[in-house]
Amino acid sequence: MANAEIIAVGSELLTADKIDTNSLWLTDQLNALGVEVRRKLVVGDDRKLLAESIRQSLQNADLVILTGGLGPTEDDVTREATSEALGRGLVFRQDLLDALLERFQRLNRKMADNNRRQTFLIAGAESLPNDRGTAAGQWIDCEGKVLMLLPGPPNELQAMFTGQCAAKLRGKLPVRVIRIRLYRVAGMGESDLDQLISPVYKPYENPVTTILAGAGDIQIHLRAHGETEQEAEALLAAVGSPIEELLGDRIYSRDGSNLETVTGGMLRAGGATLCVAESCSGGLLGGRITSVPGSSDYYLGGFLVYSDAMKTRLLGVDAELLRTHTSVSEEAAKAMATSARARTGSTFALSVTGEAGPESQSGAPVGTVIIGFAGPAGEPEAATYRLFGDRNGVRARAAQWALDYLRRKLR
Ligand code: ATP
Ligand code: MG
Repeated sequence: MANAEIIAVGSELLTADKIDTNSLWLTDQLNALGVEVRRKLVVGDDRKLLAESIRQSLQNADLVILTGGLGPTEDDVTREATSEALGRGLVFRQDLLDALLERFQRLNRKMADNNRRQTFLIAGAESLPNDRGTAAGQWIDCEGKVLMLLPGPPNELQAMFTGQCAAKLRGKLPVRVIRIRLYRVAGMGESDLDQLISPVYKPYENPVTTILAGAGDIQIHLRAHGETEQEAEALLAAVGSPIEELLGDRIYSRDGSNLETVTGGMLRAGGATLCVAESCSGGLLGGRITSVPGSSDYYLGGFLVYSDAMKTRLLGVDAELLRTHTSVSEEAAKAMATSARARTGSTFALSVTGEAGPESQSGAPVGTVIIGFAGPAGEPEAATYRLFGDRNGVRARAAQWALDYLRRKLR
């Protein structure tokens, strides 16, 4: 048994106000046991639809976990739907009734009649006692597969799973180890990246490769499972090493760290300091740099010089240069970086200027972003990029590209 489906039951989970968090928690637990979650569903309090979903999931997966819908009220339909899906009756259990009566007595309350619905088990099921609520869970073995009915309230579900289900599952499962590898990549688009590396990972079902992308930041996740740690690691290496070779220094982190953390670490290691001069990114770059705890070790500060007048007044960029070349030019970017560095005394300075859109102010095409760089050695530099996205997309990518520019310079 190695894969699972989770069904979160409850109409409230289909509203805009309530989110299914039980499946996230369960996924983490299952992964730790070497079980892969293949699919999860959210189904309202609809007996027919739920029965249909259970049937389907039992066909797909070795293990199916339902959460919620075990309460005493008519709208709690998990028991009935399961009974229908499996074609097994519901059996009254005196011991469950006794436990419920005892619980209500202890709390000095009278048990309502509809709580009796909670004293029925699917025929052949094993009851999972619930010391935090009225809904007992159920463990059902069916034809080599396992179906679990667990309560909806997260604290009840969690106590039941860790206290009872995990150990029972472990006894059934072959030992599987899961290992993951995460690469973060900057400086290329998602489709270019996929074109480059898909021949490497496509032939493998294990490890599973997922690519997540947003605003110029790409994450490549590899998840391998094996009988031993060595086997899982070997599978990771089989796919990971060629990917590393293909992407080279476009991979900026292997431990999940973001670009601001990686570049911050490089500055700190070199005992260097940084300042920024931002036009079109409007502070996003400084915002990211200072989101890292301890960034005061290397970050001196920055200039938000949105208008040409501010570029001249605050930074001292030559007004004539801006008139001749416009502010969206490599000349302007270099002058901004040079002046920022001179004013702060920092080791390095980065500048960002460009056209975020929707309309071009300078005549340069929307999406044009220029990164400037000045350091202690050599002439100031600048590079021009054409970035994708709407206004916010271009601004976010501008900050990302600037950080990546710095990373390449510091390497
Ligand atoms: P009972 O009704 O006896 O509390 P139950 O098993 O019927 O137990 P539900 O009625 O489905 O559980 O849910 C009870 C509460 O648990 C919900 O109001 C909700 O706050 C929470 N809950 C249910 N399902 C989830 C879920 N998938 N993720 C997060 N919270 C949930
Ligand atoms: Mg309920």
